[in-house]
Amino acid sequence: MNALAPYAVTEAVSRGRLHPEPSPGIRSEFQRDRDRVVHSTAFRRLEYKTQVFVNHEGDLFRTRLTHSIEVAQITRSIARALGLNEDLAEAIALAHDLGHTPFGHAGQDALNHCMKPFGGFEHNLQSLRTVDLLEEHYAGFDGLNLTFETREGILKHCSIPNAHQLGELGKRFIEGTQPSLEAQLANLADEIAYNNHDIDDGLRSGLITLEQLEEVEIFASMRRKVERQWPGVSGRRLIHETIRSMINAMAVDLIENTRRNIDAQNVCSLAQVWCAPKLITHSEGFEPQMQALKRFLRDNLYWHYQVLRMTNKARRIISDLFDAFMADPRLLPPQYQHRAREDKARAIADYIAGMTDRYAIKEHRRLFTVDEIH
Ligand code: MG
Repeated sequence: MNALAPYAVTEAVSRGRLHPEPSPGIRSEFQRDRDRVVHSTAFRRLEYKTQVFVNHEGDLFRTRLTHSIEVAQITRSIARALGLNEDLAEAIALAHDLGHTPFGHAGQDALNHCMKPFGGFEHNLQSLRTVDLLEEHYAGFDGLNLTFETREGILKHCSIPNAHQLGELGKRFIEGTQPSLEAQLANLADEIAYNNHDIDDGLRSGLITLEQLEEVEIFASMRRKVERQWPGVSGRRLIHETIRSMINAMAVDLIENTRRNIDAQNVCSLAQVWCAPKLITHSEGFEPQMQALKRFLRDNLYWHYQVLRMTNKARRIISDLFDAFMADPRLLPPQYQHRAREDKARAIADYIAGMTDRYAIKEHRRLFTVDEIH
């Protein structure tokens, strides 16, 4: 790792773990967090959870696992360029989607709707719940016992009522302060990753076309650049070259603009990062291009009728499962029945949120189709 900037998080200033543990020895504390995330059950499940396309729709589309790995790659590159703590930033990036339900945002919306009378469901909070409580890996404690700084980064958003229940970790949402630059970075790298890979997956699926993308300024200008440099390039190579140029342009803009923000605010310590406005941002000139790309993806891919048909089915699966378990918690597997005695709705939400796409489909069949035996 390169020398850390004075505003990076260091182990020396870490607010530590909920359950004190001996020092990790050959690794740093944040490397240990990263390793615990990689070895967790929730991380492996990401392989079978939707990003945009449901897992069985094709072998080459992103899943939440490959998405998380791409986010970690972008996060690490930018962290190193800015002198931030690469290990911490990577741990946050790899863990950021651990609490996602099956079927992507449709699943999250459906579960949130079911959970409305019981405190709601937020996937960020669920990621935190996964690493704090739900993982069963260690003899001495529930969860992964990650450092405060990794947990802070995982909790990207949080409602004020929920923030009040989270003590120290919820404080910044109440006080309106910022998390570390490593946390801010993982958040922005998430957007860079999905805005680019969703174009790639959208083109691969045939739901969007290169012609349509001509209306997106950043794509069109990068495509022209690639065609000038490689006359005659076409097909997959043209798409990949254009997308890699876009990722690079976004990362470079983020790095340069963040350096300008840090200079303009005179930030030279972590404490100043907390009190300054958001420092990891795209430049004013670049931001409208990012917004236009997001709008394009929403209108043409996420709201494509074929995607909406799938999300509609997904929504029904989630709410059918929730209703069936609420009506009779004895249908739950024994370990969740045990939890349901304390808080029925939350135990059911935990069970459903942990499911992969195909597990949820199978569980739906087991509960609602008479010729499925178990
Ligand atoms: Mg993500």
